[in-house]
Amino acid sequence: MVLDSDNREDDENTDQYFMEQAFKLAQQAEQNNEIPVGAVVVYQGKIIGEGFNKSIMLNDPSAHAEMLAIRQAGKYLNNYRLLDCTLYVTLEPCPMCAGLLVHSRIKRLVYASPDLKTGAAGSTFNLVCNEQLNHQVLVTGGILKIQCSQLLSTFFKRRRAEKKQQRKSINIANY
Ligand SMILES: [Zn+2]
Repeated sequence: MVLDSDNREDDENTDQYFMEQAFKLAQQAEQNNEIPVGAVVVYQGKIIGEGFNKSIMLNDPSAHAEMLAIRQAGKYLNNYRLLDCTLYVTLEPCPMCAGLLVHSRIKRLVYASPDLKTGAAGSTFNLVCNEQLNHQVLVTGGILKIQCSQLLSTFFKRRRAEKKQQRKSINIANY
C-alpha cells in the first residue's frame, strides 16, 4: 500500500515537472503575442518534442503547440507513430489536435486547463477516447490548472484591452 501511494506521488511529480516545461513554452508564445499554449512530448522520461502556438507567426492555422511538438517527436523517433509517448499541454486540445493524437497513437495525454468552448478531450467533445475511433488515449486533466488558466485569462484580458484602445484611437482619428 505504501509503495502504491509513493508511486502515485512520483507520477504526480513527474506530471507536474513536465507540465512546468510546457508552461515555459506557453510563456514564450505569450511573449510573441500568440495565444499562450505550450506542449511537450515525453518518451522514456525525456522530452523529444516541444512546441508553442505559432499560428500567427507562421501564418499557419495548424501550427498549434501540440502539432509542432508531435511533428518534432515523430522526427526524433523516426516514426509516424508515437507509441509509449505522453503529450503534456497547457490547454485541453482542440478537435484538430485531438484527431492528431489519435493518428499519432500517442499513449497518454496530460493537460492543464480544460477548454470549455472547444476542448475535445471531454469538455465539449471526446475525440481522444472515443470507441468509434481505432485508438483511445489515456487522459489526465487539471495538472497545474490554475497557473496555466491564469496565463490564458491574463492574455485575453490584455488583448481585449488593446483592441478597445485601438478602436478608441481609430474613432478619434475619424473625428
Ligand atoms: Zn489544437
